[in-house]
Amino acid sequence: MHKCDVCRKKDAVYKRIYSGHKLCLSCLEKILARSVKRAIGDSNLLDPRSRILVPVRPSEPAHSLATIALLARVEQKFDATLILLIPQDLWNHPSISKIIGLIERRVSLEVIVKEFPMPKTATTISCLRYERAWSLYHARSSNAAVVAFPISRSCMNLTGLEALLSGNVEALSESLPVLYWTKPPLFVPTIYIESEALAAYAFLKGLYIDPLCGFSIGAKIPLLSIMGRRPELEFSSNKTIMRIASKLTGLGKCRICGGFTSSGVVCRYCSETGASRFFPV
Ligand SMILES: [Zn+2]
Ligand SMILES: [Zn+2]
Repeated sequence: MHKCDVCRKKDAVYKRIYSGHKLCLSCLEKILARSVKRAIGDSNLLDPRSRILVPVRPSEPAHSLATIALLARVEQKFDATLILLIPQDLWNHPSISKIIGLIERRVSLEVIVKEFPMPKTATTISCLRYERAWSLYHARSSNAAVVAFPISRSCMNLTGLEALLSGNVEALSESLPVLYWTKPPLFVPTIYIESEALAAYAFLKGLYIDPLCGFSIGAKIPLLSIMGRRPELEFSSNKTIMRIASKLTGLGKCRICGGFTSSGVVCRYCSETGASRFFPV
């Protein structure tokens, strides 16, 4: 069996396409944790002993569990409290008790289980906005200082491409790594991690879990053309999309999900999906 390219001691279990490295699980974990640490530093939102809410996103629960494991690893040095927001329908899943067991030794933990009353299928953008509105709502009631929203760099690229291809500039807010204007503010701890590495890490840690809802992806073919074989292209498109999004200062921000809107205080996505129920009081 091939040895890990980094430590050269343990057996490699995963080949990361983006770097070409064959890695053992503990080196993969260290590398991904470093990326999460960098995203936390960039966001400038966390203090020692922060109360951080992390949702298990119904559309990508395995990515969410991988992110939670990485955050607990990084935050154990800072005495943080992680508040896990878990959809009612996933509460009995064995991967949920597994993640709780994995992280409670590392950080202070609070668990809240809430219904996720979303239509089963939606577009990528409306699904992300609904999940964000749900997370922000429960973050306020659990007195969290910040929301860590687990979404991979690949998924942010996908929504960004979808926005550009359809000329829908409102949807570019989904490619921003930090939303400073939401209450509480929200950041993406996995902005530097591609979805394949997150999925592999979840799988290798035994945290597999099927999504509760799926979304239709309009930009799948153009995205696939830049992912995988040409990871450096994925990086540069991510940077371009973020740069365009950060220049769009003329658009309003939805009171419920924090996304860009050109149609009043509540965006059209939140009106359509019924996320208006999460209106802040
Ligand atoms: Zn190694
Ligand atoms: Zn909205």
